[in-house]
Amino acid sequence: MNSPTFQILMLLTVILVVIMTVVLFAVQQANREIPGLRAWAYSYLCGLLLCVSFLLRPHVPEGPAVIVSQVLLFTSAWLNLVATQIYTGRRPWTRTCFGWALLIVLGLASYLTWQQPEPRLRLALILGAGGTLMLLSALAMLSAEIRRQPERYLFTLACGTHGLALLATSLSLLLIQTHPTDLERLDFVAQFVLIESIVVLVMRAFGVVMLANAHITAELRHFAERDPLTSIYNRRSFMTLLDKSVNLMQRMNSPLSLLGLDLDHFKRINDTWGHGSGDQALRHFVQLTTEHLRNEDVIGRVGGEEFIIFLPNTGLEAAACVAERLRALIESQPVAGPHGPIALTVSIGVTLIAKGETQEAALQRMDEAMYRAKAKGRNRVELA
Ligand code: GH3
Ligand code: MG
Ligand code: MG
Repeated sequence: MNSPTFQILMLLTVILVVIMTVVLFAVQQANREIPGLRAWAYSYLCGLLLCVSFLLRPHVPEGPAVIVSQVLLFTSAWLNLVATQIYTGRRPWTRTCFGWALLIVLGLASYLTWQQPEPRLRLALILGAGGTLMLLSALAMLSAEIRRQPERYLFTLACGTHGLALLATSLSLLLIQTHPTDLERLDFVAQFVLIESIVVLVMRAFGVVMLANAHITAELRHFAERDPLTSIYNRRSFMTLLDKSVNLMQRMNSPLSLLGLDLDHFKRINDTWGHGSGDQALRHFVQLTTEHLRNEDVIGRVGGEEFIIFLPNTGLEAAACVAERLRALIESQPVAGPHGPIALTVSIGVTLIAKGETQEAALQRMDEAMYRAKAKGRNRVELA
């Protein structure tokens, strides 16, 4: 471990890890809400301290230095897993769990240093533990429900490669019978792990920064496209989707129907039960409606208590059936208000976009049908 090559590699690693740790902390400070980023930054900080501890090896007593290194390696890998769990929306492993695991690592390291000195076994065990944690991080990221984030593959590749390399090294240390004090061989293993770690450290840091960026982009897109109260499409993004769908359906010669929905006497709900109950009623309405629709149907909030749904591949008759089912569903399921159930009904206008027709004309006709439903007493469906 004291060879000049090792020292140069170590110095290079320290420089890289310093840069990556600073970058991760800077990104985290600027975007505190990104889940897991803080744990990733601390994971790199532990990695940095680990490198420093390697550099200081020749100048400090062997025993304590080894134990500090083992604790830092383990903590860094653990934090990486916890960060991945937080980022992917899982419940992270608890601090108590970490405390116990660390105690075991400490106990084993101390035993194999002072009681029964076995440097080979000691290294094999810590590499095995670190490798397992890395592989678990890779699996957690790979199986996460974040389909629209291809960035996760870089991170998965980095953690997976590192995990496998650490486990392979650990296994070879256990299987190849060398004298326990064969320091030359240990030196070789340490250099291999170090070179592999440098490559993977850079890859993983890039992966984390890309994941952070993907998170910010997804959030911005969500804010731009979605209504904050109900999380369905806002007017602008709904109209864009409708425009695309109309073009597609016309090209495919398929029918597309529109439902215009307006909650009845909504002002009364606000006036009687308060604005909070009004908001609750809007969320309740959206939840019931979206549960009832097919995956390809799209709903948007186009006004305060006004919504539009477009149904691809659906003719007027089928659309009228959907509208009637929705109307009956909303009527049958009152909102759970703080002072008891609040009755809610909806008036719906239905129309079919005719061949070659602009969507503006169809939207106008849908509105007229909806106003007719209001005029005829509300809580009803009218066809255009
Ligand atoms: P109608 O049956 O004729 O549609 O009567 P209405 O009371 O539903 O219609 P009106 O247009 O008079 O009132 C709509 C109300 O919706 C007024 C507005 O305060 C309320 N509203 C709009 N957006 C929100 C919201 O985000 N939250 C709540 N709580 N109320 C909202
Ligand atoms: Mg209205
Ligand atoms: Mg209304």
